[in-house]
Amino acid sequence: MSTAPLFPSAARAAFTPPPSRLPGVGTTIFTVMSALATETGAVNLGQGFPDFDCDPRLTSAVTEAMQAGHNQYPPMPGIPLLRQRIAEKIGALYGRHYDWNREVTITAGATQGLLTAILCCVHPGDEVIVFEPCYDSYRPAIELAGGRVVPVCLRAPDYRIPFDALAAALSPRTRMVIVNTPHNPTGTIWHDDDMRQLARVLDGTDVVVLSDEVYEHMVYDGQLHASVARYPELAMRSFVVSSFGKTYHVTGWKVGYVAAPASLMDEFRKVHQFNVFTVNTPMQHALASYMADPAPWRDLPAFYQRKRDLFRSGLADSRFRLLPADGTYFQCVDYSAISALPENEFAMWLTREIGVAAIPVSAFYSTPQDAGIVRFCFAKQDATLQQALQRLAAL
Ligand code: PMP
Ligand code: GLN
Repeated sequence: MSTAPLFPSAARAAFTPPPSRLPGVGTTIFTVMSALATETGAVNLGQGFPDFDCDPRLTSAVTEAMQAGHNQYPPMPGIPLLRQRIAEKIGALYGRHYDWNREVTITAGATQGLLTAILCCVHPGDEVIVFEPCYDSYRPAIELAGGRVVPVCLRAPDYRIPFDALAAALSPRTRMVIVNTPHNPTGTIWHDDDMRQLARVLDGTDVVVLSDEVYEHMVYDGQLHASVARYPELAMRSFVVSSFGKTYHVTGWKVGYVAAPASLMDEFRKVHQFNVFTVNTPMQHALASYMADPAPWRDLPAFYQRKRDLFRSGLADSRFRLLPADGTYFQCVDYSAISALPENEFAMWLTREIGVAAIPVSAFYSTPQDAGIVRFCFAKQDATLQQALQRLAAL
């Protein structure tokens, strides 16, 4: 057999990787700030995740599921009991009946649910409206589908939805609008009136709504979560996305779900089955048995409201100006009385010099914005919050 090379050596050595599908994307701000917090030993109020553990009943349920032999592929859309419990819960909370078998799918976190919903609907050249600041996965997901992001800007301090601007942004090419309530990063929530206005603006169009509701159980001061599932005229055109990671303090499990009418869910599953196909089995069994008890999600608003109040009262007399925080586990603050640094630099300085990591809100916009606002995550043990507050309140 000849050992002569197939190609001349110069040709063999050279390899040009394909052009990037996401040329504008680098490492996410969450990863960057968490790494900096670890490196500097700062209290990490940047990336959104709890620094306390989940209920031990939940981890025991995973072990039990594994020991009971639930270790092979589950059905493609998820195990029936988990989907049944989700459909029952949505029905009880928001009054919309989803057929658990056809209209609910378990996903590998909300992130995969969002990406899959976008990939199954958005065609090259389609426009997708996002409200900025917005969660960082929306834009790349739209771009991977070949879609065009159309941002509608929300403004501090109250970040209300500008429905006139939304109506003006709609075009014959609009395929989708992405809604996120409670809202990351601002902590604002949509109200009944906002949902009704959205329904009015979209009436007579075929625009799909992708509703990111991962913080559905973090709504404070007795307010109601305005799920699109409550509004028939929106629910008929919507994917509703949620995440067990947020609700049960298990962000590392990456299990979430999507509910949508069958016409949308049929298309969703076509993409889902070739994207992850299924989501890990023992976690699904554990979550299904844990969901039998409503207390963990029912008690969540009170649990986080107390932490929000502790954090806010610790900063009340400081030079940080607190923005409203009606939902999520994030608190945004205006630091313009403390520093004139741009947000990115301020967040780095705060981490390195003061020992508290934060996220610059400018990271959630596609075009540079510098309003002097950073986001803190208060999903932390009280001792962690106290330690951060001591450092922040002195500024
Ligand atoms: N949407 C929003 C608004 C989020 O804050 C998060 C949390 N990172 C996600 C989606 C993703 O959730 P998951 O970790 O379940 O993928
Ligand atoms: N959702 C989390 C946040 O906003 C982070 C998730 C991630 O790191 N991608 O902080």
